[in-house]
Amino acid sequence: MEDLFALRPELQNSPVDRLIRGRASAFESAALNFRFAVTPYYLSLASLETIGPIWKQILPDEKEAADPLFQQPDPLAEESHMPVPGLTHRYPDRVLWYLSHNCAVYCRFCMRKRKVSREDSAPNVEARKAALDYIRSHTEIQEAILSGGDPLSQSDAVLASCIQELKEIPHLVSVRIHTRMPVTCPQRITDSFCQMIQELSPVTLVTHFNHPVELSDTALEALGRLRKTGNLILNQSVLLAGVNDNAETQRSLNLALLKAGVKPYYLHQCDEVKGVSHFRVNLETGVNIQKELRGRIPGPAMPLYVIDLPGGGGKVPVDSSYFVDGDYPDPVFENFQGDLFFPLGDQP
Ligand code: SF4
Repeated sequence: MEDLFALRPELQNSPVDRLIRGRASAFESAALNFRFAVTPYYLSLASLETIGPIWKQILPDEKEAADPLFQQPDPLAEESHMPVPGLTHRYPDRVLWYLSHNCAVYCRFCMRKRKVSREDSAPNVEARKAALDYIRSHTEIQEAILSGGDPLSQSDAVLASCIQELKEIPHLVSVRIHTRMPVTCPQRITDSFCQMIQELSPVTLVTHFNHPVELSDTALEALGRLRKTGNLILNQSVLLAGVNDNAETQRSLNLALLKAGVKPYYLHQCDEVKGVSHFRVNLETGVNIQKELRGRIPGPAMPLYVIDLPGGGGKVPVDSSYFVDGDYPDPVFENFQGDLFFPLGDQP
């Protein structure tokens, strides 16, 4: 905890000083379970006045140890769908490949707390080779998703080699990279990284901005560098209590992303992972936020609200259906303002 004050001296005697020191025992438990780490850059975005959206995402909280008993470390069954170490094959057409379990910042809501932040849990060279062999020998796989931790905590050389090998597999149509570095350490989006992914284009990059305050000038410049590589850039965010669980924050976030040339892709319901219950928002709240946004922000700025079903059931939309009843020639729809729309001949 003292490192925080060393990294940002103006925290001393600020309004949040006492609040941070009040988390001393949560910091101790984080050292044993899910580590605390933050970059000077991300810390510079945090308010000196209140425990706002940046602090909530990074500060250890005693609530992490106060989950209901049924919460699991791996509710999405990623480990039990792991044919070779470091590779989850849950949907027939795609695999998740964990290239590293390190991140620039450890997010307290992380859905892989069971292994992220443990340095010894990252796949080694043999595991990477086994993963590539598995993908090569399973022709039903169309997409490889580089995930983690943060795959960009690997060197450009390792990333380039992995992407290159994937690109040479004839049945793969897509390589996707999930990274939070543009949010937490935009300095990682270097010219040499951008040159590498430009040369290996097309790849899809999926960023993870959760709040508009994360779209600083520095982050926007990093996104600008990524856009110049010509690759598709999407964003996924997680609906987090006290961080972004209202329509106005979601509106600002998604408009700012679109303005930066990033398509808001998914808004995730927070998974039922042990240690994150205090971040979870009611489904009804999420559906109502979607309703408030629909028709009031441009279509490309609308993310799809999804939930990953426990037990490895896969991802499905959490949708307030606008299709009410019937079928052609008599379907009934509700529009974004809640008005019912009947077939033309049946208008009441
Ligand atoms: S960057 Fe991603 S993997 Fe790393 S701690 Fe945050 S949510 Fe978890």
